Amino acid sequence: MSSSSTVIIGAGHAGVQAAASLREEGFQEPIVLLSDEPELPYQRPPLSKAFLKGEMDMLGLPLRAESFFPEHGIELRRGARAARIDRASQRIETRDGSVIDYGHLILATGARQRRLAAPGVDLPGVFSLRTIADATAIRERLKPGTKVAIVGAGFIGLEIAASAKSLGAEATVVEIARPMGRAVSPLMSDFYLKDHAASGLKFRIGRGVSEIRGAGKAEAVVLTDGEVLPADFVVIGVGVTAEDTLARESGLECLNGVVVDAHLQTSDPAISAIGDCADFPHASLGFRTRLESVQNAVDQGRSVAARLAGRPAPYDALAWFWSDQADLKLMIAGLSHGVDTWVLRGDPETRAFSTFGFRNGKLAVVESVNRAGDHAAAKRIIGTSKTLTPEDAANPAFDLRALAKR
Ligand SMILES: Cc1cc2nc3c(=O)[nH]c(=O)nc-3n(C[C@H](O)[C@H](O)[C@H](O)COP(=O)(O)OP(=O)(O)OC[C@H]3O[C@@H](n4cnc5c(N)ncnc54)[C@H](O)[C@@H]3O)c2cc1C
Repeated sequence: MSSSSTVIIGAGHAGVQAAASLREEGFQEPIVLLSDEPELPYQRPPLSKAFLKGEMDMLGLPLRAESFFPEHGIELRRGARAARIDRASQRIETRDGSVIDYGHLILATGARQRRLAAPGVDLPGVFSLRTIADATAIRERLKPGTKVAIVGAGFIGLEIAASAKSLGAEATVVEIARPMGRAVSPLMSDFYLKDHAASGLKFRIGRGVSEIRGAGKAEAVVLTDGEVLPADFVVIGVGVTAEDTLARESGLECLNGVVVDAHLQTSDPAISAIGDCADFPHASLGFRTRLESVQNAVDQGRSVAARLAGRPAPYDALAWFWSDQADLKLMIAGLSHGVDTWVLRGDPETRAFSTFGFRNGKLAVVESVNRAGDHAAAKRIIGTSKTLTPEDAANPAFDLRALAKR
């Protein structure tokens, strides 16, 4: 007889939300939540921000109190790495040899660091940032006067650089393209580069890394133009890829992550995938994507739980994201894919402004710096029938809030 248990692999933002939402939906069957990390499930965003700066300790990180799991009948197994999925018999084998039967399996395995292809990346003193252990190791080294080279000016690289600077460390950021280039408008990218540089962060833009050099530990980063950047340690933040190893090995369809349909179901109806590991069809954009954000992980956790509890609906949540760098709070609502027109609202000189991106005349994305009101309004306009023209968006006298409330 098949098991009635729902097993969730991965206890990050997506996995924990799916378990919690299943209970909120009235799901009565057993839930097993497997985490290969030793800690209580925790939030990742503070790892490059408040936790790295020492403004938050370990106590601030957990997603839920320890008692939450037993109180909600969720069997959390920490340090339990799923090693194999046997789809024919609907079983998981863990690395320590236990076997768990499932009626439904949810893959919430997140993402893993992209490797920088350069000699010396395995030297001691070269770090990346995904886990509490990574953040703790970096934080211990961020002392006044310490030289840190950060490879990659994505959100995480820039957040680490800003945190390092606030602790008195000397950070240099190496970026082959432009800062946050895959995620934000050119105007926003330029603003951040200028603002960070004015605050004392150093940049090497348009150059890659040819080698990390050192005798027994990282001591310098050699750039593609030959410049040698001395460094006490190095942090690599060149992006992540989906952690889809288990899915691939079990024969599930995978492309840019585990392929799911609009209901987050994989090519096997007994298995779903959510969060950073899932390659899903974006309903309003009409193409497949994979998102790396807390909002997406949490909303997909809720969506899969609703389906398993008998309330199926295609996943169509508005994507939104934030990044805190120094005293700049960047909030993004929507996605910039295919945007053909950008307009500016407010003045970048004041360090509080927004860029509005339009796709075929419709508002698609709003990037706000220190303007939470624009972000809140954007969330109520994007993807609705409310009409905002580029001219109105750029007009400071236009009442955006009134349109959003309509
Ligand atoms: C430093 C940092 C800062 C960030 N800042 C922001 C931010 O400001 N805003 C924002 O929206 N997003 C931010 N993100 C991204 C956000 O944290 C992720 O999008 C989110 O964590 C995705 O949730 P998830 O549950 O899909 O994956 P994860 O949180 O990565 O959780 C997946 C879990 O599955 C575990 N796992 C993997 N394989 C197995 C296995 N075989 N067996 C058992 N367990 C397994 C992993 O170890 C991990 O614990 C940040 C990420 C990082 C690393």
